[in-house]
Amino acid sequence: MPSSSYEADLSYAQQEDRADPLFSFRERFLFPQHNGADVRYFCGNSLGLQSKSVKYLMEKELADWARHGVEGHFNAANPWFSYHHLFEDRLAQVVGALKDEVVAMNTLTVNLHLLMLSFYRPYGTRYKVIMEAGAFPSDQYAIETQVRMYGYDPADAIIELMPKEGAHILEEDDIIKAIEAAGDSLALVMMGGVNYYTGQFFDIPRITAAAHTAGAYAGFDLAHAVGNVLLRLHDWDVDFACWCSYKYLNSGPGAVGGAYVHERHGNDPSFFRLAGWWGNDEKERFKMRKGFLPQQGAASWQMSNAPVFNMVAHNASLDIYEKAGMKALREKSDRLTGYMEFLLKQITGLPFEIITPADPKRRGAQLSLLFAERGREVFDKLTENGIVADWREPNVIRIAPVPLYNTFEDCYMFYKVLADIS
Ligand SMILES: *Cc1c(COP(=O)(O)O)cnc(C)c1O
Repeated sequence: MPSSSYEADLSYAQQEDRADPLFSFRERFLFPQHNGADVRYFCGNSLGLQSKSVKYLMEKELADWARHGVEGHFNAANPWFSYHHLFEDRLAQVVGALKDEVVAMNTLTVNLHLLMLSFYRPYGTRYKVIMEAGAFPSDQYAIETQVRMYGYDPADAIIELMPKEGAHILEEDDIIKAIEAAGDSLALVMMGGVNYYTGQFFDIPRITAAAHTAGAYAGFDLAHAVGNVLLRLHDWDVDFACWCSYKYLNSGPGAVGGAYVHERHGNDPSFFRLAGWWGNDEKERFKMRKGFLPQQGAASWQMSNAPVFNMVAHNASLDIYEKAGMKALREKSDRLTGYMEFLLKQITGLPFEIITPADPKRRGAQLSLLFAERGREVFDKLTENGIVADWREPNVIRIAPVPLYNTFEDCYMFYKVLADIS
C-alpha cells in the first residue's frame, strides 16, 4: 500500500494492528512495566525483549545439568556436545547463508578480531582497510589495533568514509569510488551492514563486488542488520561477517554472537584461522591427538566449547524467527517504520530531522531523529509516558519499531507525545 494511505489517527493505527498477521507474536514477549502497563518499547535495536519461553527452557537445561552432570554432554535432552548444531539451520536462514557457513560463538567484537586475523593479512602495498567513519566504537578500536599489530599507522592504513559536507549518510556511489581509488593498496573493506547511528543499510552486494574487483576481501558487522533486514550473504558473495544476538535477535544481554564465513574459505583447510579444540573435526575431538584438523565451514573458527546456557535464549529466539519468517517480518517492518516516518512528518513544531535514509530499501526498522534543540526534553517526555527510546549524546533519539512486538498503536502513541509538546 502506498504511504499516502497512512492516517495520523488512533483508530486507524488500531485497525492496522488488527489486520497485521504478525500481531500475535508480541504475546510471546515480556515487556518492562510503567505505571502498571507494558511500556511501548522502541529499543529492540539495542537490547531485544525476553521471550516468555526462555525461563522454562533455562530451567530445563539446569535440570539436565543437575541430573546428568558430565554425561549431559551426550545425554542431555539437547546434548551440549552438539548444542550449537540445534539451530544452525535457522541461523543460516536469518542471514541467507548455507548451514556450514554460520556458527554461533563468542561475542561480536571477539568474532570481529578472530575473523580479521584470517581476512586481514596485509602484505606489500596491500594493507589498507576501508570502513565507515563514525562506526560503533568497538569496531573502530578493533580495526585500529589490528592495523597497529602489523606495524601500520591507523591514520594511514584506515580509510574512513565520511558523508559529504552537511550530509548525514554516505552516498553509495562514493563508497564504490573510494574502493576503486584505494585499488591495490586495499586489503579489506570492513563496514557495518546497517549503521548503528544513522540506520543506513549499505548496499552489501555492490560493496562486496567492488572490494573483490579491487582484490580485497569484504566483511560486514551485522549487529544492526541481523534479524532486521533481508540478508543473502552467500549469494552476495560476502567473505565474512559477524553479529551479536542481543539486539533484534532478542537473545539476552551478552548473548552468544555469530559468524559467517563463505564456504570457499571455510571449507579450505589451508585458510588461516586460530585454532582450538572445538573447531577441530568433531569425530576426532575427544581423541586428544596432536595436530589441528579443521572441521568444515565457519564452525572451524570455534575455539572453546559452546556456552550452552548462553545459547538457550538464542535457540528460543531463532524458533520465533523461523515461525514468523524473515520475509514477513521485513514486510511488516517496512510498513511500520513507514508509518512512524509518516507520523513524524506531521509534526511541525519541533526542531528535528530524520537522518535515516528515506528510501525503505536503504534502512531497516530504525529512525534516528537529530534535534537542533529540545531533544532531551522530548526524550524525557517520552519516558514519562511509558515510551522507551534510545538517547545518543549529544542530540539524537533513535527508535526502532520492531515488527515482532511493536504495533501501529505504539507508533501512534509516540507521535502523540511529540504532537502534544510541539
Ligand atoms: C552493538 C554493537 C557492538 C557491541 O559489541 P559487543 O562485542 O557485542 O559488546 C559492536 N559493534 C556494533 C556495530 C554494534 O552495533
